[in-house]
Amino acid sequence: MKNKKITILGAGITGLATAHWLNKDDYDVTILESKGSPGGSMITEKVNDFLIDFGPNSGLETTPKIREIVNDVGLSNEMIYANEEGNTRYILKNNSLIALPTSPGKFLKTNLFSIKAKLRLMKEPFVGKSNDGYYQSIAEFVERRLGKEFLDYAIDPFVSGVFAGDPTKLSVQSAFPKLYRLEEKYGGLIKGMIRGAKERKQRNEESKQSAKMFSFINGMQSFPRAIAKSLGDKVIYNAAITKIQKEDKWLVNYSVNGEEKVLKSDIVFSSIPSYKLSKIFSGVDNSLLKHLEDIYYPPVLVLYLGYEKDIIGKKLDGFGFLIPSKERKKYLGAIWTSTIFKNRATEDKASFTIFVGGARNPNLSEDILDETIDEVIKEFQSIMNIKGSPILIQKKFWKKAIPQYNLGHIEHEKYFDNFETENPGIFLGGNYRGGISVGDCIKNSYLNYEKIKNYING
Ligand SMILES: Cc1cc2nc3c(=O)[nH]c(=O)nc-3n(C[C@H](O)[C@H](O)[C@H](O)COP(=O)(O)OP(=O)(O)OC[C@H]3O[C@@H](n4cnc5c(N)ncnc54)[C@H](O)[C@@H]3O)c2cc1C
Repeated sequence: MKNKKITILGAGITGLATAHWLNKDDYDVTILESKGSPGGSMITEKVNDFLIDFGPNSGLETTPKIREIVNDVGLSNEMIYANEEGNTRYILKNNSLIALPTSPGKFLKTNLFSIKAKLRLMKEPFVGKSNDGYYQSIAEFVERRLGKEFLDYAIDPFVSGVFAGDPTKLSVQSAFPKLYRLEEKYGGLIKGMIRGAKERKQRNEESKQSAKMFSFINGMQSFPRAIAKSLGDKVIYNAAITKIQKEDKWLVNYSVNGEEKVLKSDIVFSSIPSYKLSKIFSGVDNSLLKHLEDIYYPPVLVLYLGYEKDIIGKKLDGFGFLIPSKERKKYLGAIWTSTIFKNRATEDKASFTIFVGGARNPNLSEDILDETIDEVIKEFQSIMNIKGSPILIQKKFWKKAIPQYNLGHIEHEKYFDNFETENPGIFLGGNYRGGISVGDCIKNSYLNYEKIKNYING
């Protein structure tokens, strides 16, 4: 056992995966988690004939590190991949669902975009670089390179699907660094995609477009549960961290069942949400608080609906659909949960996960949930041609769901880098740095481990 004491704050996927690599390399690691179970945003429940994921429904296998952890923790028999149908994604346009084209041939034929928009897209390789990429939103970036219609009917719904975000606010550089780099490095998206594919092959990585979508037979929370189990009593539950102080070592104060405790640590790695970390660091650095609290997490309602299959008119042959803002609906889109992965509903049933709110609807609150849900179900059933009512309605309201890498996020990133340099032994991680997806959190967990190891070994 290596003798430095490492404390990890939070047992979501970031904290657990980082702990996994450290523990595998025999470092002395303890994880403090305020809740009674692991997983953070990953929450799976079984209700009657349905398996419900209230957080992420899937991940993309963008790095071999995912499979490595799965194997290490003995979960390989439970890892599953999306069915073929999961490759087709629909976009709502004029109340009809149109498949998002997946090949140049289908793109030319689709009625999702007008002829004018298709011709505009072909101009992309000839559009020059931006001079102000630093402060450019994804909306400005895409409109400049690909045109307004592509922004409205491809990128806007995509941004909702990933970030529950507002494309006019998300920074292209921070939220979509790969897209930004394609322009910076290769001078365009189409040129860059061709050259980037070759480079990824060399690094043994998958692009998000070609990576396989995975989950687990008993839902996403199986993954953090299995990692936590393999860590045994190194994970301490119901341990709410209240304060961090600096003495000769870092003192992590936490309370378990009302009892105050302190863990003396050489290294502290935080994976808890920024707005929660700010409370814990008050007294250490006031500017840090401002940066942590400035990161916006919009509200999201996850609505899970279960139906008898035979009352659904629409053929369930896809991943689900996303709704462009221009279509003015009450919700962001719906995943056809039981079509994508097995074991989400019994054979005669179908289930759907609907997302409401996000940065487009920042005023969504608990007070208006019931009336919102009624309207969403009505709109959803009309699009899906469903003749009847759901047999199961479950919901989870995330008051602060997903951190937005909005314009100016780069300033936060710089501040966090600086803070780590000036406060040796403190590392800030979690989904407000380096990507929000499950795949990114795991990719970053390995980078976190390497950073900590390099710090220890000088
Ligand atoms: C509704 C929703 C849907 C999503 N869908 C997808 C998807 O389909 N695909 C995808 O790739 N990603 C998706 N994401 C994003 C992804 O799930 C998250 O970014 C990722 O799980 C975050 O993991 P994390 O460990 O960084 O943070 P978290 O999961 O937030 O974990 C942080 C942990 O810290 C603990 N904690 C907080 N405060 C304290 C404290 N004071 N003391 C001790 N512990 C504390 C929390 O209890 C929690 O367990 C979704 C997110 C949400 C919310």
